[in-house]
Amino acid sequence: MSIELKNKTKRAIQYFCGIILFFIFQFGTAFLDKLDLSHFSGICSAFQYASCLFLVRTNNKKGIITSIILLSISALNLIRIIVSLGANVAMSGLFNQIFYIITIIWLGVIFAKQEKAAVTDMLTGLLNRRGLYKKLKDSIEDNKPFFLIDIELGNFKLLNDSFGTVYGDRLLKKTTERINSFIGNRGIASRKGGAEFVVILKDTHNAEEDANNLLDIIREKISLSLDGDYLDCYVTAFAGIVSFPADSDNYENLLKYADMAMVEALRSNSTAVCPFRPEMEKSIKRHAELEHLIKEGIEKNYFYLVYQPQYILRGKKLRGFETLIRMKLPDGTIVSPGEFIPVAEMSEQIIYIDDYVIKRAMNEYKDIVLNHNRNLIVSVNVSAKNIASAGFPEKVKRFLEETGFPAGNLEIEITEYCMVSSFNTTIESIKVLRSIGVQFALDDFGTGYTSLNYLSQLPVNLLKIDKSLINDIENDDQKCEFVNAVISMGHLMDCEVISEGVENEQQLKKLDENNCDFIQGFVWSKPLDYEIAKALSLTE
Ligand code: C2E
Ligand code: MG
Ligand code: MG
Repeated sequence: MSIELKNKTKRAIQYFCGIILFFIFQFGTAFLDKLDLSHFSGICSAFQYASCLFLVRTNNKKGIITSIILLSISALNLIRIIVSLGANVAMSGLFNQIFYIITIIWLGVIFAKQEKAAVTDMLTGLLNRRGLYKKLKDSIEDNKPFFLIDIELGNFKLLNDSFGTVYGDRLLKKTTERINSFIGNRGIASRKGGAEFVVILKDTHNAEEDANNLLDIIREKISLSLDGDYLDCYVTAFAGIVSFPADSDNYENLLKYADMAMVEALRSNSTAVCPFRPEMEKSIKRHAELEHLIKEGIEKNYFYLVYQPQYILRGKKLRGFETLIRMKLPDGTIVSPGEFIPVAEMSEQIIYIDDYVIKRAMNEYKDIVLNHNRNLIVSVNVSAKNIASAGFPEKVKRFLEETGFPAGNLEIEITEYCMVSSFNTTIESIKVLRSIGVQFALDDFGTGYTSLNYLSQLPVNLLKIDKSLINDIENDDQKCEFVNAVISMGHLMDCEVISEGVENEQQLKKLDENNCDFIQGFVWSKPLDYEIAKALSLTE
């Protein structure tokens, strides 16, 4: 028997006992009256009242109704005695019963208010975490299939930090409105905490489709007033789905699995809605392990940098290096950034990592740039979270001053995700840094979904065509034409273009024919350890 079913049975037994107790004390009162011990019957009557309180506590609404019925029966019995026997002594008992009925109703209302407050989220009016647990248990008891959708607003913290908590609160309320209007009476929504909502969806033919539609609505533009002005923003939303009873019939597991699926959706850039799969448990464990390793890595410095050369395509002249981070564990295992950067990006750890990389790369290349190769570009990857955070340009300026590295030799690689989180702040930060000479590259171009209209507004000077677009251009004419068009578009946007992940001579030839400016890839060099990269830059 499931825990929920056990609880239901327990409550039913308690309720039944409450009623039985009432009648025992009812008969007790009558019995004592018969023995002419009516001064003791008051005690029994008080216990009757206590039984009613017990019923109200076990189940507020049902308890009040049952108590009123029971106390009314008792009161009617007393009226019968007064009418038929004229027993004045029963008058005080009758008044007691009336008093009990009034206080039971009054207490019931107070309990109901308290209970509602205890399960309601004050800000949004939705169920809070406790309310969610209760509703979930009730839904499991009903034993009818339902889905749980766990929704997280990915960029909420950033928006909250950037525009303040008043704006953040309004954003949550607006999202609540959208969720409520979407689900109507097909389910119930709750706020689990922070920017995480959980919906119990009962009446659905396709939960995944519903979740996708719900996220589409949540992600629509939000215009909210702030200091008298209207400020537009877009929230990023991700959802995990779990099904009762298919995935579990236990409320704790259902919540855990829905959360896991949501984290999976958050981590994968390709899907916003993710149904739970049992193998997710393993990947969540790895995620937690990586989180721990990064924390330890920051404390004990497990990080080091490698540098991948970038070349001018015509003439194979060294343009510069892309700085790539690695994490080396005490047992010698090397963890790739492809694995740990996405984990770090989900917390503030990424800020530490990015800052560490910028400072270290500038320190390692300062002398080379100043004394040997004034044109060498040192490129660093900066996460969307970092660039959208307040004070980013000032921080980079401070690093430049501290290290003495020339601003014109620094290139910052951003991805288009930085626009999803905070378009205006990002553009402003880039403009400030470009005005002092720092260069900007748009990384992984061709993998995202941002509209060209947005992309064209990004003040970058270099487009980095992603490896996935380069793959197979030597055999696929259509793909090659497409890359050609992308290169032309980059030039039209007044950008230079670099292709990354170039692996063979045929690809080089095709890119050359299509006027690509620079290339980076295993065909000419893998990422190099610092000493080797340094030697390479000194020979150029
Ligand atoms: P990315 O910035 O697009 O970096 C290019 C990735 O492609 C690097 O992988 C590089 O080693 C790999 N690559 C370059 N040429 C070739 C090639 O010809 N063939 C193949 N198969 N791969 C090639 P890596 O070093 O594993 O980095 C993966 C991603 O991790 C990077 O993609 C970047 O998004 C992130 N990353 C790396 N270092 C940092 C860092 O310091 N900070 C941040 N925020 N992210 C970083
Ligand atoms: Mg990069
Ligand atoms: Mg890339």
